[in-house]
Amino acid sequence: MTKPYVYITRKLDETTLTPLKEVAHIDMWTSEDEPCPREELEKQAAQADGLLTMLSDQVDEALLSNAPNLKVVANLAVGYDNIDLKAAKKHGITVCHTPDVLTESTADLAFALLMASARRIVEASDWIKDGNWTGWGPLLLAGADVHHKTLGIVGMGSIGTALAKRAKGFDMNVLYHNRSRKPKAEAQLGVTYAAFDELLTQSDFIVCLTPLTPETKEMFNKKAFEQMKNTAYFINVSRGQTVDEDALYDAVTTGKIAGAGLDVFSREPVSPDHPLTTLPNVTVLPHIGSASVETRKNMMHLCAENIALVLQDQQAKTPVQA
Ligand code: NAP
Repeated sequence: MTKPYVYITRKLDETTLTPLKEVAHIDMWTSEDEPCPREELEKQAAQADGLLTMLSDQVDEALLSNAPNLKVVANLAVGYDNIDLKAAKKHGITVCHTPDVLTESTADLAFALLMASARRIVEASDWIKDGNWTGWGPLLLAGADVHHKTLGIVGMGSIGTALAKRAKGFDMNVLYHNRSRKPKAEAQLGVTYAAFDELLTQSDFIVCLTPLTPETKEMFNKKAFEQMKNTAYFINVSRGQTVDEDALYDAVTTGKIAGAGLDVFSREPVSPDHPLTTLPNVTVLPHIGSASVETRKNMMHLCAENIALVLQDQQAKTPVQA
């Protein structure tokens, strides 16, 4: 019997794919950094039994309706807003993602971005490299304290909870907002539930960690930024489209809030001309939330395991539960 065929839409570390190589023929796109063009993805999907995709690939009805053999799509991310789940269900295709393995690394990055924004770390580093350091001044590049401040986490799931633990180590007061309360986290971590509006008005740092859904799209809009303290920092490590970027630009340039830290943008890769990338009080990162070597390799391995399991008619380890 011929082995099933799996296409991988980026060049991945081969050593992470061992579980898959045992049960399938695999081929992959030639570049680590450049996305697989849509035309190539369509051609591959038309013959593949499994796809290992990135969040930059649109896995939609048009793709899935021309993929007669496709049984499984494993997305190298915990978020799956690039995948049409209804279409996948209609075509009997299992969708998998990579929860948990990236939780701690993403929480590390979220806290690092919060610290970098508050203490102007990237701005200060650039300032030296640009040859500006001629002397010491009492308020030279002075930022905001993080310890003992109030952190508001919007979307306190796995990553948000890991972030709250880090914040507690800095003696922060932690508020959170979800659609449902988390009594266990409240008791164990000493975090406090707040309505969205209350969280916005009370927090010194507001971190967005929700998935991108129709409900969360642009939930950080003009009204939300107007409710924040003018000393507040907004940090986004979720998806760019949870934010109205024009409203954020207005907020950080008119002093409605003190600054922002962004790991994600509504269109990625973001252009260096994007207004938000030109401001000293906005720290920008190229969507590297989970990007430690160890975690990325664990994510690749989990995708490979999931595809191998489904192709052997077994239950995937981490199917999307939606
Ligand atoms: P998770 O465990 O599913 O947590 C998501 C949380 O968001 C849940 O607690 C959920 O609580 C809450 N939520 C959902 N809809 C909401 C709404 N309308 N209003 C308020 N809260 C809402 O997911 P996770 O693993 O922590 O990951 C969260 C997101 O982070 C991912 O979906 C992904 O987009 C993003 N992410 C980004 C990176 C990066 O590289 N920047 C890396 C990993 C993940 P309720 O259901 O009770 O509302």
